[in-house]
Amino acid sequence: MARIIAIANQKGGVGKTTTAVNLAASLARAPKRVLLVDLDPQGNATMGSGVDKRELEASITDVLLGEAQAREVIVRCEDGYDLLPGNIDLTAAEIRLMDAAGREQKLKQALETVRAGYDFIIVDCPPSLSLLTLNALNASDSVLVPMQCEYYALEGLSALLDTIEALKGRLNPQLEIEGVLRTMYDVRNNLANAVSAELTNHFGELVFRTIIPRNVRLAEAPSHGQSIIGYDKASRGGVAYLGLAGELLRRQREREQGNASKEKAA
Ligand code: ADP
Ligand code: MG
Repeated sequence: MARIIAIANQKGGVGKTTTAVNLAASLARAPKRVLLVDLDPQGNATMGSGVDKRELEASITDVLLGEAQAREVIVRCEDGYDLLPGNIDLTAAEIRLMDAAGREQKLKQALETVRAGYDFIIVDCPPSLSLLTLNALNASDSVLVPMQCEYYALEGLSALLDTIEALKGRLNPQLEIEGVLRTMYDVRNNLANAVSAELTNHFGELVFRTIIPRNVRLAEAPSHGQSIIGYDKASRGGVAYLGLAGELLRRQREREQGNASKEKAA
């Protein structure tokens, strides 16, 4: 049964889509069976996976509106993962869903139908706490928060974590924080180093040890419709995302072992 991970931060441009695409591709190399879901009307994860968002016959929008089955819409990507593509139609879907019964449940219901076929489902969220993001958080086992180590980042992070806590009670009590990921990191930037230190002080184990450096190859890859794994896996960015996948899998194994020994003790 797939672990469903939402990649979320209400701030734009922090590396959500870059993380969603490259984590999906890196997990696929492990090899794990991975589905990437593009839930952002910008359709950047779709384009970055080599699928033209302007030429979709069907998309996640049709699935959310109950007009298609997820499995009919999923496409295979070159870098070894499956994609449930999305585009600007999601904006209309969101408006139509506003009045629907169980409007926060649509993605969860759709993913239930394909979940057994994957090890991981990664959901790329839009840069807001909209109904689409609520659908993602409701459908997910955990949320991975990419952040840039900037002056206001910690404030934004606390607000996001508070929102997730509030949501948990109401929608999805099982929701965990998969981790906080430092992205676009520049070690020569003193402020970034200070914010990073404060972040680990404050959030400890929640912070991934893996740090994603600022790396031009990561910014170039999407224009070739490729993940960093297909485009240049030996780049610093490629090595970092492969490292993130490794860390995530290791943490998952440790959690499972912890649970198993707890059950034994009980
Ligand atoms: P979000 O999805 O949170 O809006 P993106 O992943 O689209 O953020 O990243 C914003 C911009 O920064 C994109 O142009 C992307 O290519 C670039 N970018 C993201 N991560 C890195 C990185 N580690 N190094 C260099 N450029 C990056
Ligand atoms: Mg994005």
